Amino acid sequence: MSAIPQERRLVTAVPGPKSQELQSRRTASVAGGVGSVLPVFAAKADGGIVEDVDGNRFIDFGSGIAVTTVGASAEAVVRRASAQLADFTHTCFMVTPYEGYVAVAEALAELTPGDHAKKSALFNSGAEAVENAVKIARSYTKRQAVVVFDHGYHGRTNLTMALTSKNMPYKHGFGPFAPEVYRVPVAYGYRWPTGPDNCGPEAAEQAIDHIAKQIGAENVAAIIIEPVLGEGGFIEPAKGFLPAIAQYAKDNGIVFVADEIQSGFCRTGQWFACEDEGIVPDLITTAKGIAGGLPLSAVTGRAEIMDAAHGGGLGGTYGGNPVACAGALGAIETMKELDLNARAKRIEAVMKPRLAAMQEKFEAIGDVRGRGAMLAVELVKDRTTKEPDPQATAKVAKACHEAGLLVLTTGTYSNVVRFLPPLVIGEDLLNDGLDVLEEAFAAL
Ligand SMILES: *Cc1c(COP(=O)(O)O)cnc(C)c1O
Repeated sequence: MSAIPQERRLVTAVPGPKSQELQSRRTASVAGGVGSVLPVFAAKADGGIVEDVDGNRFIDFGSGIAVTTVGASAEAVVRRASAQLADFTHTCFMVTPYEGYVAVAEALAELTPGDHAKKSALFNSGAEAVENAVKIARSYTKRQAVVVFDHGYHGRTNLTMALTSKNMPYKHGFGPFAPEVYRVPVAYGYRWPTGPDNCGPEAAEQAIDHIAKQIGAENVAAIIIEPVLGEGGFIEPAKGFLPAIAQYAKDNGIVFVADEIQSGFCRTGQWFACEDEGIVPDLITTAKGIAGGLPLSAVTGRAEIMDAAHGGGLGGTYGGNPVACAGALGAIETMKELDLNARAKRIEAVMKPRLAAMQEKFEAIGDVRGRGAMLAVELVKDRTTKEPDPQATAKVAKACHEAGLLVLTTGTYSNVVRFLPPLVIGEDLLNDGLDVLEEAFAAL
């Protein structure tokens, strides 16, 4: 089925000579502010493997940051996008519309939580979707303030930098930032002062108190939260937190926005992670996994909110590009056909016990968390003080890369190794990747 043999294979040092040559061209021509996790240049990618220009095959535990959920050359994505490419590449939906855009909006209405009337608007990137969710919520509520959370990540444009929590590397030196953005506590169980058990209600109480006393609920247009925080360190808000915040939003006429850009589209074993606590967001932002690697994002939500902005107020030249829409229809078709929600749960069933066993064995692993195929380990210098260990985290990642396993790090303290394999990855590759990870911890 897969064009590339689904096996880890190293034929040169990492990076190999061809990658090194490309890296020197890159250094001379590409802006230094654009980083890469490892200086290995991709030639092909499919299933659970990324093959580089030197012929090395890496096991992919990153999916290009939670994007290639269906694999990086899924048959239905390639077929549908290729057919669309042959028909036309672009007309601009704001000039002459086309069916693919409408079909994606229909699919989003069907797949997102809640049985109310829904509408969507399509964009290119996750940040653009979040920006538009704010525009829409402000139009609807006629209010300005936006509430976000500690450890939250929402993008790199000016407004989304303001919404994002972590300074380095996302914000440092790039201000001034957009006003009317307020940050409140999130229920981070592992680091909650009184422990994880009461974290959900306690954190919700603090967040709500902050909103009520320091901002004023009647000034708040939107509360935006990732149902599983991605760049913040794969933090699952402790139980009860999300429902309490969603209820507070509802009681106060605030638009509740779930940013499911990283956690959505089968990643956590549900179409959307907020379903695990029965949350029905007013608006939901999606991108990353939506289109099998083609650039597409969306805001989907209650029809009356989505229709609040005046005609012509939303859009963009490329938003909902026809090739990207065809890719999305192919990705969604694949997710349904292969039941990738079940695959995500199976990946959790294979990985989580092995990660837990590693935690027993290696002192450096303070916490194992996440669900579906969105899993992580948090590294600490000392289990009692929980002092973050970004150095050990970088070492483990580097050892994995050199052994042919592509892993990503994350977290406010840069001390989390995260695992986001494509949901189509084979189980032997998954186990081989975990063996590599275990060796990397053993070598610490
Ligand atoms: C990646 C991400 C974004 C930004 O998406 P881009 O496509 O990089 O602009 C926003 N929110 C979350 C939760 C993300 O993970």
